[in-house]
Amino acid sequence: MRGLMMDTPLLLQNIAEHAVCNHGGREIVSVTADHDRHRYTFAAAMERARRVTALLDSLGTTPDARIATLAWNDFRHLELYFGVSCSGRVLHTINPRLFAEQLVYIVNHAEDEWVFFDVAFTGLLESVATQCPGVRGYVAMTDAAHMPESSLPNLHCYETLLAAAQPVAGWPEFDENTASSLCYTSGTTGHPKGVLYSHRSTVLHTYAMALPDSAGLSALDCVLPIVPMFHVNAWGYPYAALMVGAKLVFPGHRLSEPELLVDLITEEGVTIAGGVPTVWLPVLDYLRRSGRNLAPLNRTVIGGSACPLAMIEEFREAHDVTVLHGWGMTEMSPVGTVNRPNANTADLAGEALRAHVVRQGRALPGVELRIVDEDGEELPRDGSCFGALQVRGPWVCADYYHPEAPSAAHHEGWFDTGDVAIIDADGYVKITDRTKDVIKSGGEWISSIDLENVAMSHPRVRECAVIGLPHPKWQERPLLVVVSDAADDALAAELLAMFEGRVAKWWIPNDVAFVESLPHTATGKVSKLNLRRAFDEYRFPDA
Ligand code: AMP
Repeated sequence: MRGLMMDTPLLLQNIAEHAVCNHGGREIVSVTADHDRHRYTFAAAMERARRVTALLDSLGTTPDARIATLAWNDFRHLELYFGVSCSGRVLHTINPRLFAEQLVYIVNHAEDEWVFFDVAFTGLLESVATQCPGVRGYVAMTDAAHMPESSLPNLHCYETLLAAAQPVAGWPEFDENTASSLCYTSGTTGHPKGVLYSHRSTVLHTYAMALPDSAGLSALDCVLPIVPMFHVNAWGYPYAALMVGAKLVFPGHRLSEPELLVDLITEEGVTIAGGVPTVWLPVLDYLRRSGRNLAPLNRTVIGGSACPLAMIEEFREAHDVTVLHGWGMTEMSPVGTVNRPNANTADLAGEALRAHVVRQGRALPGVELRIVDEDGEELPRDGSCFGALQVRGPWVCADYYHPEAPSAAHHEGWFDTGDVAIIDADGYVKITDRTKDVIKSGGEWISSIDLENVAMSHPRVRECAVIGLPHPKWQERPLLVVVSDAADDALAAELLAMFEGRVAKWWIPNDVAFVESLPHTATGKVSKLNLRRAFDEYRFPDA
């Protein structure tokens, strides 16, 4: 028997309309190249988003056109998030830190019709425009006074187009499985792969983001998405803030300036911020040096790569900020797990608490997780078995956009995340490595993330990574690579001594190497592939 409830489609326009009706006066603050702090309301933002739809119609874009953005976090990008997707078209957010050839590849692969861009990327686009013949024109996201001198063909000014557009009266209703946005993963091998989100997947992910044991967003919050809007929809914060009525603060192109981030947090009343560990390292460093604090921030969601224990503890002890350690991926919209306490873990203290907070947390309702062995057999959730982590759920990608080859990551309805994890009886997940970064010593796995956590707790270690390198006797052994202003033999010896008693003896790295900086990917993660390449010639002292 079928239920008799209304079959209302889950569409982003419902979030937009809900926001205007219920939180229309809530503020959005943005730093942009042409405004120190631009301020307006949710209602004004959604009115302009309806103008975006009208201008896309007037530019003659096709009904399901892919509209690319090369833009930082600000109010204009937010208008495109809604104005493009709610018109039935697909917002294709592009990471401007990609190599030029990857950029060309994804613009052509997505068949982008128009590119909306921040003026700072004018030169980048000029250098690739002739290789993107399918692009019909470019829109600079600024006003007439700040338009760049440019050779880009069919170049328009965003504010001029918007001023001339009459907002559409309402957005159309369509099937909830209609594509809403597109984001390419910057895989380490092969071409980037497109993940095509739908309205339904995005709306369901937005509900899950707001749950108390997730980011726990409410109308009293003020959200600072430091994670870029070109990376998996800024982890869904723009949608979630509009849905719940939380004030939004966007750092624009200055998202890696610690002083500005702290100014925004303290002056705008930010209660929750989200970003990868590498953006927080300089912020914490700046706070130590300046003596400033983070009030009124009370929590921050950190993920994208493992959040070091030392960072979680410094946030808590020095700033009374709770780190919500989360895990996810582009293919998961992106949030899969968040570490929030349950009845069994709420009162942990000391070493047990330290071991617990570095975990990536429990699955959001809607996400199913399992770990499997090399034959695909499910492994127990006993807190000690390592296995390949697989997921499924309504905001997990079912296949890539126009894949060049059948997906190797999809098996019988499950998506293989490429991560290795342990799951305990309460469902808490601990990611131990990427499958490709796993260190196999004498046939056994060593978790590089556990080792990095130990080394990061040394005050002289600014950043570190553990990689597996070939060893004649053990097949592979761990090397600890460290960025420090005190790089010498004494520090190396101190670091190696720190592992004693904290990890199994045979996990202790064989050596420490100091470097000026670690290589990072376009999304701010340590690129272990490039690091291993840099240490290609390295030989362990006992090898
Ligand atoms: P991306 O799709 O670029 O966001 O990368 C997703 C990958 O980042 C995941 O498969 C993990 O390997 C890694 N990742 C994300 N969050 C975490 C985390 N909290 N701890 C460890 N690895 C993470």
